[in-house]
Amino acid sequence: MVRLSKLLFNFAEKVPKVTFHNGQTCPVLGFGTWQAKKNVVGEAVKEAITAGYRHIDCALIYRNETEVGEAIKAKIEDGTVKREDLYIVSKLWNTMHRPDLVEPALKTSLTNLCLDYLDLYLIHWPFAFKEDGDLFPIDNNRKLALSNADYVDTWKEMEKLNRKGLTKSIGVSNFNWKQLERLNRVSAVKPVTNQIEIHPYLPQTRLVEFCKSYKMVVTAYSPLGAPARPGVKPSDPVIMDDPIIKGIAQKHNKSAPQVLIRYGIQRGCIVLVKSVTKERIAHNIDVWDFQISDEDMEVLNSLDCNYRTMPFIDAIGHKDYPFREEW
Ligand code: NAP
Repeated sequence: MVRLSKLLFNFAEKVPKVTFHNGQTCPVLGFGTWQAKKNVVGEAVKEAITAGYRHIDCALIYRNETEVGEAIKAKIEDGTVKREDLYIVSKLWNTMHRPDLVEPALKTSLTNLCLDYLDLYLIHWPFAFKEDGDLFPIDNNRKLALSNADYVDTWKEMEKLNRKGLTKSIGVSNFNWKQLERLNRVSAVKPVTNQIEIHPYLPQTRLVEFCKSYKMVVTAYSPLGAPARPGVKPSDPVIMDDPIIKGIAQKHNKSAPQVLIRYGIQRGCIVLVKSVTKERIAHNIDVWDFQISDEDMEVLNSLDCNYRTMPFIDAIGHKDYPFREEW
């Protein structure tokens, strides 16, 4: 007889792990928590852990780490998982890049998440904001108040956190190739990952190849195109509705979201997908029984239209704004 617990853990066992250059391993499918409201995120995280997600992507700026932490604690206490089964990520927010603010920021996330170490801590964006407490500080011209804190100085602090064991790995997010190259030249501990937006409308082929050449694994965010993102317009393309993607899904008796998740994984990326809907949480992790053909992967790559859902336009005036570069 198959035990119920075996059924519940089915997908956890199926999710492959990638090994970073530092020897740490990470499940290639992660559960996203951006825009998951405080009153629903706890249940969603519990559902996700029950469905088999072991990698949970968090950030201080998501303003829901406390609720995520309570859910993680509950799933450890009820015996569903052990801490060491989980891979928990958080990110340093832009107002905390100044070196003296980096360790306190990580410790705040640890407290929020009820943890004594992170598996991975990322610099969320290469640019910094004014360090005055407000997470989106505004200047006298009603624009984002920027800071000149240099991400290289921030990175040196990240290295210290890694050495102290507060986080098992360190990485970056939303860095372009020039910023990665600069970091690589000066760093003692290299980033294990660059977390960036990836889907067929923005495959970022050159950046992905560049990261690989530096032994950095790419983590793909917004694989479904973040359809409910702030500021989305009715006229914006909906990637999940693309007839070509739907056609590939039909061939495999799968859905467009499942093809989009599988697309990132087959490109060698870690993929983060978010849902607070029980059925979708289970559906999105059910991607291990089909393989997109090389031809169809090429078809998906050919949908590239440089469509970025997350341009963070408000920060475009910053010297370290990453998306002015072609890649
Ligand atoms: P996403 O995962 O591409 O899309 C999430 C949206 O798709 C939600 O609105 C969700 O709705 C819906 N959805 C999920 N599964 C679905 C399905 N099977 N069918 C139809 N709709 C579905 O977008 P994302 O949240 O932007 O990206 C994933 C994670 O990456 C984030 O949550 C975050 O952890 C991370 N991220 C990082 C950065 C960064 O700067 N480093 C930026 C963006 C995202 P419901 O929730 O209502 O079900």
